[in-house]
Amino acid sequence: MNENKLLADTAARAARYVSGVRTRRVAPTPEVIAGLNALGGPLNDEPMDPEQLIALLDEAGSPATIASTGGRYFGFVTGGSLPAAMAANWLATAWDQNTALFAQSPVGARLEEITSAWLIDIFGFSSTCGVGFVTGATVANFTALSAARHALLARAGWNVEDRGMFGAPEIAVVVGAEVHVSLSKALAMLGFGRTRVTRVPADDQGRMRADLLPPLNDRTLICIQAGNVNTGAFDPAEEICAQARAAGAWVHVDGAFGLWAAAAPGRAHLMNGYANADSWATDCHKWLNVPYDSGLALVRDAAHLRNAMGFGNAAYLTMSDHREPALYTPEASRRARGIEVWAALRSLGRRGLAEMIEGNCRLATRFADGLRQAGFEVLNDVVLNQVLVSFGNDEKTRRVIRDVQTDATCWCGGTEWHGRAAMRISVSCWATTEADVDASLAAICRVAGGQHQGV
Ligand SMILES: *Cc1c(COP(=O)(O)O)cnc(C)c1O
Repeated sequence: MNENKLLADTAARAARYVSGVRTRRVAPTPEVIAGLNALGGPLNDEPMDPEQLIALLDEAGSPATIASTGGRYFGFVTGGSLPAAMAANWLATAWDQNTALFAQSPVGARLEEITSAWLIDIFGFSSTCGVGFVTGATVANFTALSAARHALLARAGWNVEDRGMFGAPEIAVVVGAEVHVSLSKALAMLGFGRTRVTRVPADDQGRMRADLLPPLNDRTLICIQAGNVNTGAFDPAEEICAQARAAGAWVHVDGAFGLWAAAAPGRAHLMNGYANADSWATDCHKWLNVPYDSGLALVRDAAHLRNAMGFGNAAYLTMSDHREPALYTPEASRRARGIEVWAALRSLGRRGLAEMIEGNCRLATRFADGLRQAGFEVLNDVVLNQVLVSFGNDEKTRRVIRDVQTDATCWCGGTEWHGRAAMRISVSCWATTEADVDASLAAICRVAGGQHQGV
């Protein structure tokens, strides 16, 4: 086997994929999905030639992907892959650095340190923040809430890392009615319990009602949201953080995509008050448009994060005077996630990042305008990159979602909003253009039987 040829051929295949992904169907046909059987069968006894297996993987696998990097994918909150971030990811794979300790990867460790400072500045947070480079917002919520658990119980004289949760002083947990399932999952994993929480009612956009907060004290953990997964709405952080500060409570923010509003001057007002929280979770694989997987846990007082994530001493794990990546994350051995974050931020610059976020928000408004003009009902205030639309009754809306997915000009998912079926549109990919939105609007209107005239 010729290693150089293998890598060059594979790069050529990847480049072909990338150049085709913007014009192809967004979702594979059932026949192509059935074709994935070609990857199965019994495991071969003898080695298979890598060039042959890459060819098989490309021929059967590439058409069976969801074209989420192509500009017409609006499902969940997804984001594509900036060219620089994808290229950096390839180099990082060649490096194969274990980014647990500085000693194992000086470059991996330093990239996290360098990008931490940039990120803290972009979000407008305190320079005392500790940042953990984790797999995504679910684990970022878990990681940041571990730091909250540490701090709240340490105040009560309880070392939770040593003594565990049985017999620990009680912590009251407050969430909004619209809490994301991943945050509830993080609470479950930490022994706080998914349902042992006070749920604060939300307003018509899904924002927590600050006037309905329960009494808070210094044993309260309150979890708020920057960017509702359906509407994109932000909880009123200014009021909530002020009340929490006065009471000594800990405020955690799930800002999986919403935190990035801070990078765009036209949207930054949505983030008012959020810098006063104690911890935050966000994703880079969503709105920063880096390849999977990549999320960030940020904690105002880095010591709380290190106390929660540190491990007892083992003689062979030599700590240096540098920032040690493993002291900020649940994982020890892991990949060098800082590299794509570094490449994405460098390639965009501050202006490019602002334009990417703002541009996606503008395109969401373009979607909403086009759908309204076609006679359909937009159910949310489009303040960010999320649009909810109803096509009439629930049955019709569900039918339209199914047919849009089968048509595969674009891809949009479904949800339920205030008891009604709705289609969700999330514009989160750097590659999405006005032409993509117009082609998608035309397809949606064709399927739904609306009067799309172009916007
Ligand atoms: C996507 C999302 C999450 C979970 O993020 P993962 O990267 O899938 O772990 C959490 N909260 C919100 C608001 C989200 O949009």
